[in-house]
Amino acid sequence: MEKQQYIDMAEENLFHVYNRFSVVFDHGEGMYLYDTDGKKYLDFGSGIGVMAFGYGNKEYNDALKSQVDKILHTSNLYYHPPVIEAAKAVTDATGMDKVFFTNSGAEAIEGAIKTAKKYAFLRDGFAGHEIIAMNHSFHGRTVGAVSVTGTDHYRDPFYPLMDGVRFATFNDLDSVKVLASKKTCAIIMETIQGEGGIYPATKEFMEGVRKLCDELDILLIIDEIQCGMGRSGKMYAYQNYNIRPDIVTTAKALGAGVPVGAFAVTDKVAASSLVPGDHGTTYGGNPFVCAAVAKSVSMMKEMDLPEHVEKTAPYLEEKLEALTKKYEFATAHRGMGYMQGLVLTIPVGEVVKKCLEKGLVVLSAGKDVLRLLPPLIADKKEIDEAFTILDSVLSEF
Ligand SMILES: *Cc1c(COP(=O)(O)O)cnc(C)c1O
Repeated sequence: MEKQQYIDMAEENLFHVYNRFSVVFDHGEGMYLYDTDGKKYLDFGSGIGVMAFGYGNKEYNDALKSQVDKILHTSNLYYHPPVIEAAKAVTDATGMDKVFFTNSGAEAIEGAIKTAKKYAFLRDGFAGHEIIAMNHSFHGRTVGAVSVTGTDHYRDPFYPLMDGVRFATFNDLDSVKVLASKKTCAIIMETIQGEGGIYPATKEFMEGVRKLCDELDILLIIDEIQCGMGRSGKMYAYQNYNIRPDIVTTAKALGAGVPVGAFAVTDKVAASSLVPGDHGTTYGGNPFVCAAVAKSVSMMKEMDLPEHVEKTAPYLEEKLEALTKKYEFATAHRGMGYMQGLVLTIPVGEVVKKCLEKGLVVLSAGKDVLRLLPPLIADKKEIDEAFTILDSVLSEF
């Protein structure tokens, strides 16, 4: 089929909930994607932070293939080796003690919220607790996740949402303190706000929120769905700070292409929150996705990808810095590791589109940020190639 035929057929049948770019991807290899016309693209989006190992990694794909032939699914009524191995991998990587597997990031957020509510319910003997979330946060598209997402246009058409959510200002500890009380069961935040525009938490904020949570027995839910799994230069981004969360949510690169998420909790939380009957999922943590999780975590360690990111990210930041010096409309850059944003006063959507035409996949975040989420295997060579294209696109504005 021709590209336009594909697109026409897609728009005829897919619910138009995304404005898709005019490209039909066919396959990928390493850092590169190929469309149905055979055109090659350098990928600095990773399918929104998912494809940490790039495309077509043989070791990874072989692990998935061998699991397909063994068993795809059994349900959570039974044990199976992949879920046992994946659980060990995720508790080790997150520094938490117990894990529950989900089908997506949003569903991990839902589980984290239910866990915090049940914890406070058991402690106080009644429900009705509040959650503090952050402005410009993003936690997913299900009703519970939207309820803690601090961007009005994601929320406005869907009221009434989950009750009892209050919004504080990210990186402003006092704004959290005035909302915190004995009624608060959880504070939820990303370590690095992603969709909101690539804002890393400050050290004072992270450590201040942790202290506040300790004082009032509030559970700290850290959403690492985008910034976790090596992207920040540590296995989980909160490990760049001197804190331990009570609950960590993870997804995206956890499955590195396979739809899986998880929320992981400390022993203290596991001991007095959800019990059998409180929560469940049919597919969550099935043998196929858990084979992926066990493999992605072990490969990330074997390949030293967090260290590679930590070592190479300053080079990426230098390149961004150079663009802010060269172009007046590039006003700032922010980020950590391979999660970087370039703030632009020209239309970001146009920049993303032009990059795509020139064979570079990049993303946007918020209204005015060009977002770079390269696969973690990206080296200086690919960074050079990406910035040559980006520079030539920006020079046209
Ligand atoms: C992507 C994302 C989610 C939602 O994950 P889905 O798998 O799309 O449901 C939640 N939180 C953060 C920080 C994200 O980046």
